[in-house]
Amino acid sequence: MINAEDIAKVYDPQAVEERIYKNWMNKGYFKGVVDKTKKPFTIVIPPPNITGQLHMGHAMDNTMQDIIIRFKRMQGYAALWLPGTDHASIATEAKIVDAMAKEGITKEEIGRDKFIERAWEWKKVYGGRIVEQLKKLGSSCDWDRERFTMDEGLSKAVLEVFIRLYNKGLIYKGERITNWCPKCNTSISDIEVEYEEHDGFFWHINYPLADGSGFVTIATTRPETLLGDTAVAVNPNDEKYKDIVGKMLILPLINKQIPIVSDDYVELGFGTGAVKITPAHDPNDFELGKRHNLPVIRIMDDHGIINENGGKYCGMDRYAARDQIVKDLQDLGLLVKIEPYKHNVGTCQRCHTVVEPFVSTQWYVKMKPLAEPAIKVVRDDKVQFIPERFEKTYFNWMENIQDWCISRQLWWGHRIPAYYCQKCGHMEVAKVAPDKCSKCGSTNIEQDPDTLDTWFSSALWPFSTLGWPDETEDLKFFYPTDVLVTGYDIIFFWVARMIFSGIEQMGEVPFKHVLIHGLIRDPQGRKMSKSLGNGVDPLEIISEFGTDALRFSLISGNSPGNDQRFLPEKCESARNFANKIWNATRFVLMNFDENPDFSKVDVSKYTIADKWILSASNNLVKDVTDNLNKYELGIAIGKVYDFIWDYYCDWYIELVKPRLFDPEDNTRLEVQFVLNEVLVKCLKLLHPFMPFITEELYQNLYKDCESIMISKWPEYEEKLEYHKEEKQMSFIIDAIRNIRNIRSQMNVPPSKKAQLIVVTDKSNFELFRESKPFINRLAYASEVILQESRNGIPEDAASAVVPGAELFIPLEELIDFNKEIERLTKEKVNLEIELNRVKVKLSNEGFVAKAPEKVITEERAKLVKYEEMHKSVCERLEGLQAKLK
Ligand SMILES: [Zn+2]
Ligand SMILES: [Zn+2]
Repeated sequence: MINAEDIAKVYDPQAVEERIYKNWMNKGYFKGVVDKTKKPFTIVIPPPNITGQLHMGHAMDNTMQDIIIRFKRMQGYAALWLPGTDHASIATEAKIVDAMAKEGITKEEIGRDKFIERAWEWKKVYGGRIVEQLKKLGSSCDWDRERFTMDEGLSKAVLEVFIRLYNKGLIYKGERITNWCPKCNTSISDIEVEYEEHDGFFWHINYPLADGSGFVTIATTRPETLLGDTAVAVNPNDEKYKDIVGKMLILPLINKQIPIVSDDYVELGFGTGAVKITPAHDPNDFELGKRHNLPVIRIMDDHGIINENGGKYCGMDRYAARDQIVKDLQDLGLLVKIEPYKHNVGTCQRCHTVVEPFVSTQWYVKMKPLAEPAIKVVRDDKVQFIPERFEKTYFNWMENIQDWCISRQLWWGHRIPAYYCQKCGHMEVAKVAPDKCSKCGSTNIEQDPDTLDTWFSSALWPFSTLGWPDETEDLKFFYPTDVLVTGYDIIFFWVARMIFSGIEQMGEVPFKHVLIHGLIRDPQGRKMSKSLGNGVDPLEIISEFGTDALRFSLISGNSPGNDQRFLPEKCESARNFANKIWNATRFVLMNFDENPDFSKVDVSKYTIADKWILSASNNLVKDVTDNLNKYELGIAIGKVYDFIWDYYCDWYIELVKPRLFDPEDNTRLEVQFVLNEVLVKCLKLLHPFMPFITEELYQNLYKDCESIMISKWPEYEEKLEYHKEEKQMSFIIDAIRNIRNIRSQMNVPPSKKAQLIVVTDKSNFELFRESKPFINRLAYASEVILQESRNGIPEDAASAVVPGAELFIPLEELIDFNKEIERLTKEKVNLEIELNRVKVKLSNEGFVAKAPEKVITEERAKLVKYEEMHKSVCERLEGLQAKLK
């Protein structure tokens, strides 16, 4: 079974990863199978956009999911990790429009059907790219179940949900102020607007009273919207304007009369106290306009160009119009002043164009009734956020939620299933296009041109991917899913919407836990971005260090919800760790007897070291399992790392080498057994984190075993608890560490053995006697003397204290007095030269006057340091010389 010769001398990830991944795929290990004898464990992938390319965020997100699903699979769950991609309407459409622009054509020219054909073509070519990249990460998704938000089944689910919500009155069409991106040329929802601080101005403008009795001054950051003003509003309690409420003003440039109205919305004492009202271009003005029955006049088209309502400015871009309007107002003497003003401007999340809010007719989801139960399930812990603090973010948003604008003026996406009779205007919402109008019988019917927000389909992801609306076996078995792993940046976009959709459509929450992770930042803590050029390509890291190293570097030291910096040196230390495990395994196996028969192992022959490592690894199993169950991935990998590096490699292997090297030792079989047991446990615990190297070593160890990924997760065993020995061995290790410290502080080479005097309680004598072989070897002791008191120990012996014992090494045992005196004398001379150099420098007035403050401070610090060192060298010299006399 054990075969060491086949293990390559060094670990080469490039030579291993692809072969192993192919084997996993071919054997079907990733398949999620309905098996009622097992408990299900389900994760659905956050579907990456088909436009996407693997970045560090994906690498992190998917590594976390893969760790969890591999752990659960080994634990014996019917594990399913369901993958797929998102059609990403706005992003994909923009890519195709750009590509067409290079050919010199627009989407209007080729028409809707041809455009959609192109989009599918594009998806075919590029949509699989991200999936292939996810495979490179080692992701153990059930790829046979890969879904796409616009595939047939998911489109069916979208249609079903739209009709259901519409019939319940939860989807409606309404005229509202919408955020409009003039570049993407579509409406966008509130959360797709990102606020950026811009340098702008407050333009103070005089509106003349119609009766010629004076002016009212207003201030605005968007003077071009003046063209659509239909009133000026003041606070009802504003003494300044009390007498003019109800009077008319003349709107400059347009020269029509608009009323002065009073409304509580206007803040008393803010600015000039008078506010221009443009109901078509501002959400607050829109509401105020409704209260006062003001006309709604849109002055801009969908591209941000002034329309026919803008008089002589018609046809001008919004910013060109702004400049012209300001100039014209100035010429008319109506511009009072221009005041610089920093303010937050809404921009499009996708293209960062300044968003233009204006009135339009859109489709909305009524949110209040859906939000309420979605708040309750989180309050009742049916859905738990990890870390919990994100629940606050969630509540905050859900409690203040506005209706969700779901229509987009795009072609790539799920088209809204509303049909309009072109003859009588009757609208029907239906799964299938009606042949004729149910009111007038006309067959001239057209479908709504708009498509749905991308997030409308991804909100259904946890159940639509399992076959909903059909009642499939998959849905019954795998829903609700167990954990959703995602970044905090899409809690509103996606997590919240999945929660209310799951409750509304399935009557059950979509997942029990939401594991939130932060962003990966660059080494300086900045966001990785294209414009800064500071992004790190995970695929490059993989080709340089291997997938396991990338995964390790992303997970170790990471805690849920917090951003982390990506430090390239972490990949190096991950690679070193991989090499450490590789070399340790090779070493151990090369020193095994041929075909050891572990059925003959005699437990009574276990030494204290054997019992210690068995017990410690048993505890490790318990801890790591607990941590993984609580999704504390960073803590879990830290423990596995420490155990392998420190306990297993640096201590246990060293402790047992004499037994391994001695063909006559009568505990050889036992030590080989324990080495193997603990190693396999370690490989299994490490497998979810570093799947490739663990598989390669495991398969080399066990030719007759299929794969580590379907092996059984180690379990805690009471019989492996050796409490006493674990404590004792830790005590001895602690002692050895201390002795090594003393020796390294005194520069003693390992070849120089020294006597060790241990002062301890008599009850520990036996333990030290038993441990003599370790102490002799690992603490370079020539002999170990045990005593209960300090009697007879030379005063100048080097000493260390560990809980329960004092350790002494007589100085003459450690150093050759004459040699040491010689060495110290040399050191003393060198120090004096240095001291002199610094002193000369500092007494040089020219230097002190000209050198930068920092340099002088450094020199002064050197002086102090050298003086201290000189003093201590002199003292040690005197001490040694006194001894020689
Ligand atoms: Zn945009
Ligand atoms: Zn009709």
